[in-house]
Amino acid sequence: MANPTTPGPIRRVGILGAGTMGAGIAAQVANAGVPVVLLDRVPSGAVNRNALAEGAVDRLRKADPAAFMHDAAARLIEPGNLDDDLGKLADCDWIIEAVVERADVKRDLYRRLEGVRRSGTAISSNTSTIALKRLTEDMGEAFRRDFMITHFFNPPRYMRLLEIVSGPDTAAGTLAAVAEFADVALGKSIVRCADSPGFIANRLGIYWLQSALVEAIDQGLTVEEVDAVIGPPMGIPKTGVFGLMDLVGIDLGPQVNASMRAVLPKSDAFHEVDRDVPLIGRMIEQGLTGRKGMGGFYRLDRSQAERRKLVIDLATGAYRPAQKPVLPEINAAGRDLRVLLSAPGRIGTYAFRVLAQTIAYAATLIPEAAGSIADIDTAMRLGYNWRWGPFELADRLGSGWLVEQLAARDFSVPKLLADAAGARFYWVEGGRRQYLGTDGGYHDIERAAGVLLLEDIKLAADPVLRNASAALWDIGDGVACFEFTSKSNALDQHSIELLGQSIEVVGTRFKALVIYNEASNFSLGFNLGLALFAANIAAWGEIEKSIAAGQGAYKALKYAPFPVVAAPAGMALGGGCEIVLHADAVQAHAETYLGLVECGVGLIPGWGGCGEMLARWRADPTLPRGPMPAVAKVFETVSTADVSKSARQAMERKFLRPSDGISMNRDRLLADAKQRALSMVDGYAPPRPPEFVLPGRSGQAGLASAAQSFHRRGLATRHDLVVAGALAEVLCGGDADIIDTLSEQRLLDLERSAFMRLARTEPTLTRIEHTLETGRPLRN
Ligand code: NAD
Repeated sequence: MANPTTPGPIRRVGILGAGTMGAGIAAQVANAGVPVVLLDRVPSGAVNRNALAEGAVDRLRKADPAAFMHDAAARLIEPGNLDDDLGKLADCDWIIEAVVERADVKRDLYRRLEGVRRSGTAISSNTSTIALKRLTEDMGEAFRRDFMITHFFNPPRYMRLLEIVSGPDTAAGTLAAVAEFADVALGKSIVRCADSPGFIANRLGIYWLQSALVEAIDQGLTVEEVDAVIGPPMGIPKTGVFGLMDLVGIDLGPQVNASMRAVLPKSDAFHEVDRDVPLIGRMIEQGLTGRKGMGGFYRLDRSQAERRKLVIDLATGAYRPAQKPVLPEINAAGRDLRVLLSAPGRIGTYAFRVLAQTIAYAATLIPEAAGSIADIDTAMRLGYNWRWGPFELADRLGSGWLVEQLAARDFSVPKLLADAAGARFYWVEGGRRQYLGTDGGYHDIERAAGVLLLEDIKLAADPVLRNASAALWDIGDGVACFEFTSKSNALDQHSIELLGQSIEVVGTRFKALVIYNEASNFSLGFNLGLALFAANIAAWGEIEKSIAAGQGAYKALKYAPFPVVAAPAGMALGGGCEIVLHADAVQAHAETYLGLVECGVGLIPGWGGCGEMLARWRADPTLPRGPMPAVAKVFETVSTADVSKSARQAMERKFLRPSDGISMNRDRLLADAKQRALSMVDGYAPPRPPEFVLPGRSGQAGLASAAQSFHRRGLATRHDLVVAGALAEVLCGGDADIIDTLSEQRLLDLERSAFMRLARTEPTLTRIEHTLETGRPLRN
């Protein structure tokens, strides 16, 4: 008989508390395809005893950003209540408690669980502040063995960090089972934390926000100045300090500060920045709690015809129109953060005081809160979306300079920083990234089995091929990786050229090819700036050549004598989506947003997207017979520039096939794609070119009348009709007769000539110009 405490795979999850976090975590478990029991209190006097959990599922369905990756996920959540349905937890393999942040409530619940849950079932709390020691006090040994803290970040679908705290009695096997599930199935990156207040990310994040707030008041900066300085120049999201406070809720600040004040030892540097800011109290009293309230540090003034952004004056507390701050210090610094922090005057002083103190505070958290500097940096990157963690920022500044400046400005220098002075926190040795340990030695950054990063490969070797817009890498075991490297991974003549060269090289020296990169977006498609430039000088021949070159390269990829796996993550639009459509198989990150968006800029897909989508819909056995249903489906998807909101949804739109794979964890994507490519090597034969039977002129008439009716209802502009007409012509096979068979090449020719016709129209050029300037489509 199996040992009852040996954890098995996690097949069903129970979640207690259907508030913001419990519901959000439930959605992510359902996104992973795993059933969830979601329980909350029975509201007093309620007719529907499951009202809270059911209401939570309803809210999840409407959440923005979306909580569910696809509609069917909601059905995996079974709502219930904590009085009638506790027994359902007996079938769960992991129970996550996410009820109100009160130790008494949580512990009462744990005691009730002891009667129902199977021994060996993992149980964890999502608490943000209560110590594991306190939660497990006077709980039995069996409970303590199965218990840990799993601290998710909001919103749980999108925030990659999961902090895990285990106790002295937590069973290693249970911990490993939860960590594995959270990593592989839920896509989270796990940082192990000590059982200390706020764990890692919030402990440092709270200090950072508080120091940025009080220093702003002391140094006399405006809200806009603060967010411009403690923002992009430091690799911190544009929300900066005040934008972030508005987002999380201003009322939360005094609460978390109070709880930190109560639990942190007197020697903790938090107390030096912890002070009551009367403005915050007044804002909360007035309901100015941020985005969830009547506004916060920023507020939209809707009283005028033109909406204006207002900001709070930190000195008076009154709103005034927001202004773009004039900060020559930021321009002068460019990418050199040290120049910004050394700038004379209040901006430089402020930047130094906030950043240097934050880095210094981070240095005091080892080993009390974190095991290594690498854990702190990962926590800040993934929990606060910083581009660089504090020690990576210290490397950018130079630890010697930082220590010298801290001392010169009378700040205390923590031992860890003093010891590191002059050395780098990160170092590359033998092609491996290493971090500085507290023992003074460098240690390899270990990657879990199944994690492969191009970032690491690049440290160890030079590319096989490279030009201005792309590179080809050897990722081992006979597999090559084609990477876009241009800005926004926009595609241009160089990307296409290198793709062509790569196909030749892979054909002779490798077994398979993966198309992948580690930018936030796989590719935003054809470089519109170049297209517009060419159009402005009437270089039509050049544009047509680049369309033909792209078509040729993508088909060469499709019919190459080796398997090709595309591994997109983030946005893959236009030409970036078309390259995915041409791969033999796709391994997509769960958060992949695919779309053929050309119609939005007055064009149509020009690199074979039309034919690839037609072939996919035509193979769908659920569609009625005849050529028109598939044409209508592609027409609908492409003419509306529809973008899928997840990889799962992309399957419904047929940007991905049911046989394609989805990786939940971004760090596992390359290894998964490589594995898939290798599994296809034996007996690989390229696909056979499809032939099309299309509805010709009669089909175009049908689509045109549908588009006309949209136009009459005000849903399509005049130029939309022109674009839709060009798209319909391609999808219906031009002049084809319904008995004709069209080759793939004929469809490409139609695509190219329709593209060129549209590119020469004035409204299309106006659309492109507008999109380049504003990032948004123009409805003309
Ligand atoms: P919430 O207020 O949105 O939800 C709390 C839930 O607890 C509610 O559904 C409520 O009905 C339930 N509840 C209240 N009293 C209860 C009782 N006596 N018995 C059982 N259930 C009860 O809170 P939240 O933001 O989802 O936070 C839940 C937990 O997650 C807390 O421990 C919090 O510290 C932690 N956390 C929150 C965030 C965040 O950003 N909101 C992030 C990480 C962790």
